[in-house]
Amino acid sequence: MIRLRFAPSPTGFVHVGNARTALFNYLHARRKQGALILRIEDTDVERSKREYEENLIHDMKWLGIEWDEGPDKGGQFAPYRQSERLEIYKKYADQLIDFGNAYYCFCSAEDLQKEKENAPDKDSAAGYSGKCRNLDIQESKKRIANGEEAAIRLKIPRDKTIEFFDLVREKVTFDSNLLSDPVILRSSGMPAYNYSVVIDDFLMQVTMVIRGEDHISNTARQLVLYDALSFERPQFGHLSMVMGEDNTKLSKRHGSTSLIQFREEGYLPEALFNYLALLGWSPGGNTDVILTRDKLIELFNIKKVSKSPAIFDYQKLKWMNREHIRRLDDNQLGERILPFLEKEQFQVKLNSESIQWIGKAARVLSNYNYLLSEIARDFVQFTTLDISTESLEHLHSSESAIKVLSLLREELTKTTAPVPFSFILEVTKKIQELYGIKGKELYHPIRLALTGKESGIELKDFIPLIETGALLEIQPAVLPMIPRLHKFFGN
Ligand code: GLU
Repeated sequence: MIRLRFAPSPTGFVHVGNARTALFNYLHARRKQGALILRIEDTDVERSKREYEENLIHDMKWLGIEWDEGPDKGGQFAPYRQSERLEIYKKYADQLIDFGNAYYCFCSAEDLQKEKENAPDKDSAAGYSGKCRNLDIQESKKRIANGEEAAIRLKIPRDKTIEFFDLVREKVTFDSNLLSDPVILRSSGMPAYNYSVVIDDFLMQVTMVIRGEDHISNTARQLVLYDALSFERPQFGHLSMVMGEDNTKLSKRHGSTSLIQFREEGYLPEALFNYLALLGWSPGGNTDVILTRDKLIELFNIKKVSKSPAIFDYQKLKWMNREHIRRLDDNQLGERILPFLEKEQFQVKLNSESIQWIGKAARVLSNYNYLLSEIARDFVQFTTLDISTESLEHLHSSESAIKVLSLLREELTKTTAPVPFSFILEVTKKIQELYGIKGKELYHPIRLALTGKESGIELKDFIPLIETGALLEIQPAVLPMIPRLHKFFGN
């Protein structure tokens, strides 16, 4: 069985780039009926926080990603939090020392800093000169027994080509001479990422590592460890980075970047899921791009993932969001929009009728908006009539507008709520017959007086909504036609 993992560091809110990595792991695991592991890489003591982990688990589930093993679920290879696996890392580090593949490094932070400053090429990423590489191991052990502190470094073999086949990038090679010996275990006992990741991927029997391309040079160091420990290598796939439209790494400057922001703005998780799945991968052919989670699982193919940077297109995501909104039925949409309405201070007595109404209203408003938060904000037009004095004056100055609206009000007083749209058709017919008013002259005053706007929501949608909504227990109350007309007549 294939086994994949998603291994975030809980040092902040989940970035869409990381969510996409998790998603590709999820899609591939489900496609191949394999297992997905969530492993929390919390060895950066200063930056890791439990609340970020909780938030991450919540946001991933919201997005629709599920895993089979993890800190919240347990599993055969628990614990799944690296901070709880320190003894394991110690054991293998000792083994690496004993086999001569790693060594103690007594350099202090200041020593290393000095070394960097004196390096011939200050910009080089190489880092460490290998000063402690040839210390006698017995000597080192004595110094440690005497209380000296030491980190453990991996010995990178010299003059070697490190090679692997990447599922996305195909053949990748590195010159080992360009890699300095990395610390694998700090003197505090905390492992470095490149080390714990290898131990855990091996012990958790991970068969495929899909992660961001920013880790590709780490993979070279990790491969040295696999070989030093005689661990079988997993397959690797490095995903291109997610960029903004200006081709720089996606960041706050471009817009929302964390899952929590997308959620709060009113993106549907299924829309974001759909969008992220197609960020750097496409099913090809003439497949519709609006796809459900199950369909994406069915179609996903890791080998078809693109090497080129993936450009995050907010406009396309918004469009997809609207498409997914439209695919919900009234009830589902009503349920989804409710928390956003509450944020806008709406209070709704919950029953199936009001949920249905909210769903219907939201569907109509989705013609003018892309996000649930925008739609919820737009509900205000059902409960208030925001008409400018200018518009009112304009209506009052038109004889025909006065005629139209007077007759409309008169006819309305003879009806019982909720008034259907067919009523408007009857009244307009009557006006036409009686006064010969027609076309724009007839409809424009009605729409302006009822909605306060020159354009936007169509009367055939608006009227049934305000008429039926007014009968529901919604606060602030939905305003039907009669009180709207009162505003025009000033009473
Ligand atoms: N903790 C690492 C990160 O969040 C994991 C990288 C990996 O998947 O190996 O970048």
